[in-house]
Amino acid sequence: MTDPIDRVDAFLAAHAQERLADYVEFLRIPSIGTLSEHQPDMVAAAAFVAERLERWGLEHVEVSATDGHPVIYADWLHADGAPTVLVYGHYDVQPVDPLELWVRPPFEPRIEGGRIYARGAADDKGQVHIHMWAARAWLEAVGSLPVNVRYVFEGEEESGSTHFDGWLESNRHRLDADVAVISDTGFFEGNLPAITVGLRGLMYAQIDVTGPALDLHSGTWGGNVQNPAIALARIIATLKREDGRVAIPGFYDEVRSITERGHDEFARMPIDAAAMAHQIGVPELFGEEEFLVLERRGARPTLDVNGIWGGFEGEGSKTIIPAHAHAKVSCRLVADMDPMRTFQRLRDAVLAVQAPGVRVEVQLLSHGMGTQTAIDHPAAVAAAASLRAVFGGDPYYLFEGGSIPAAASFDTLLGLPVVLLGFTNPDDQAHAPNENMVLANYEGGIRTIVRYWAALRGLPR
Ligand SMILES: [Zn+2]
Repeated sequence: MTDPIDRVDAFLAAHAQERLADYVEFLRIPSIGTLSEHQPDMVAAAAFVAERLERWGLEHVEVSATDGHPVIYADWLHADGAPTVLVYGHYDVQPVDPLELWVRPPFEPRIEGGRIYARGAADDKGQVHIHMWAARAWLEAVGSLPVNVRYVFEGEEESGSTHFDGWLESNRHRLDADVAVISDTGFFEGNLPAITVGLRGLMYAQIDVTGPALDLHSGTWGGNVQNPAIALARIIATLKREDGRVAIPGFYDEVRSITERGHDEFARMPIDAAAMAHQIGVPELFGEEEFLVLERRGARPTLDVNGIWGGFEGEGSKTIIPAHAHAKVSCRLVADMDPMRTFQRLRDAVLAVQAPGVRVEVQLLSHGMGTQTAIDHPAAVAAAASLRAVFGGDPYYLFEGGSIPAAASFDTLLGLPVVLLGFTNPDDQAHAPNENMVLANYEGGIRTIVRYWAALRGLPR
């Protein structure tokens, strides 16, 4: 066997039992990052990863302190002249309640029907484990990696990566890379191999409309006082048009248009709009008509009212003019849209609505950038080829509506192209009871990463 990939594959085949046992052991650690009673488990999970990386031949392995949970850093930088890959994953997991809906306790892994069930099996300990074993297989079977690799595994992804940007800033000196690879996503419906090339950003705001100091008698004051709830309704109605387009001036100015290739990829994806509508219980889907359903989900920005309240909501009737009314409004953003600029545009549009007799305020609650990597970026092309070699068929390209804070950080702080190459099955029940990973995805994931490192060796730098 002279082909190094054959040697790596043979190593993986010979160590399959050991690997599965190791995966189970990792999943037994209840590393719930958000609950303080699991602090010792977070330490144990970080130690589990670091100990193996060290033993398997990675260098500069460090459990690096932050003001929250530690970041695990490790590297292998001996592929002279080859590109450097920054690999990201997270070892924290979501809480497990409601516990009674789990078939087996969440930290007692169970293998059944070709799947492993446990909290973190998919999101994201399974995928961290994929990377650990891809590195081990290269280093033990061949003695080297085809590219330089830096591993960054954090423990606060499920709690908003609060201290991660700070860690990135103060560790810039050891984060030089050509591409960031994040394995915290998965396959398309039907367990079809996919690469995620876009994640949307977010701008979240609150509109407060304040009228009289107290709720007023509507018989005494109705006709002489502006109603804050009506003023709010008028404001909200100006933000979006009947056809689903956002009506805020300038809102779409920085939206990247969908390329012909991108449109073809969206059009190729097997979806059934009527079934989707049925599944969520609506008469029909609704959105910008000139775009495909998946384009609207991933490549177009949105504006939604997340909640609206004010005045009397109890049983029966109470004749008042409410003292105040409020709405939470959020926008999902696509790459190149600056959340702060979007907020300013929203605020300007809200304040431009004539509403005499009330005070209107708009406050920003949270925000995050989106990311987008071109389908034809060499790092995405290499990822597609590696997936094809293991799983067969052309992978789909996904634009996810949600976000991964680290992806935006790698893009904006480190200026790296980001490839989201993840392997979870779409029915993985991440964040829910009975989380699971299809073992063929897990094993295929390792073999894909093995090939991806080899394919990235030729990445133009
Ligand atoms: Zn995750």
